[in-house]
Amino acid sequence: MVKMVDGSIGEGGGQVLRYAVSTCALLGEELRIYNIRAKRRPPGLRPQHITAIRSVAEVCGGTVEGLKVGSSSIVFKPSKPRGGRYFFDTGTAGSVSLVLQSLLPILCFADGPCEVELRGGTNNPLAPPIDYIQEVLLPALRRMGVSAEVALVRRGFYPRGQGIVRVKTQPVERLRPIEAVEAELKELEVYAYSCNLPDHIVRRMAGAAESMLKKSGYRDVIVRTESLGPEDPRNAVDPGTGVFILARLSNGLTMGFDSLGEKGVPAEEVARRAVDDALQQLATGAPVDKHLADQLVIWMALADGESRIRTSAMTSHTSTGVEVVGSLTGASFQVGEGTRGVEIKCQGIGFRR
Ligand code: ATP
Repeated sequence: MVKMVDGSIGEGGGQVLRYAVSTCALLGEELRIYNIRAKRRPPGLRPQHITAIRSVAEVCGGTVEGLKVGSSSIVFKPSKPRGGRYFFDTGTAGSVSLVLQSLLPILCFADGPCEVELRGGTNNPLAPPIDYIQEVLLPALRRMGVSAEVALVRRGFYPRGQGIVRVKTQPVERLRPIEAVEAELKELEVYAYSCNLPDHIVRRMAGAAESMLKKSGYRDVIVRTESLGPEDPRNAVDPGTGVFILARLSNGLTMGFDSLGEKGVPAEEVARRAVDDALQQLATGAPVDKHLADQLVIWMALADGESRIRTSAMTSHTSTGVEVVGSLTGASFQVGEGTRGVEIKCQGIGFRR
């Protein structure tokens, strides 16, 4: 049966497209998606989305019509995901994390191990930094039975990208549901990183974040800085910097809050943005940050049984994910909003390879 998806629903951006393509690739169903990114300017496909769709199509031996920049509709016909070695390049600083967001479920349900090299941006605005994938998303997915490693070989920043990430997966038969409703904060870590910039930037960013967290009552803060230069093979081709705050929890999972450096924005202000985000989340006591909530939607829908997570707020990315993935898979989602954040329950379909 052909699945029809209106790409303008909810958030109306790239995530509707990525979720629809990945879900149909796994279910083996033909997908027609129209009004792609209708709520973005310019609308239609951008190079990063093309790489994401092409990578899914290649791993699952599928075909795609309409795959060009600006296109507002595509027809995608998947076959079965196959293990093997793959290489995908966004060709620009397009986010490798977003390519991975659509590709990872396909790799995990392939018929054998996969080794993938991805090239592009590793730390982009409005996308998960690769550090977030490694430190926050993967530990949650491992809890569900996913076997995946993501190694950062070289950072990539706007404008040229050229970051390199290597991904290794082992096939999974089925996913366990996830439960993340209650957890205590165990430890906060501030990690400030830079490439091709003077050392004082990471020191100022880390110092500012540490002192703001301490002033807010969080006493034990671990601080780590990394300032790479041309002698280091992991150094990016362009300058770039950012701060990433990790909140490690008693349930073994981690939340992540990042802020990317911007020309003209002082290091202290970059730090403040990440700290504000972290403090807002920690104040609710919810153990799943708002980005992880939307990124878990597809995995919870595929899992065998009932998942329950509590997050700080229902974002439009999460509600859109629930709408798209829920209607394509038949998984049922229940959302309850209260004073302690939002609880999302999902009865997964028990998808098997
Ligand atoms: P578009 O260009 O159409 O806006 P997009 O392809 O860039 O789309 P979105 O649809 O906006 O992507 O989806 C962005 C994804 O990145 C979401 O899953 C969101 O949770 C995630 N994300 C954005 N910022 C962060 C962040 N700071 N940390 C972790 N995840 C993030």
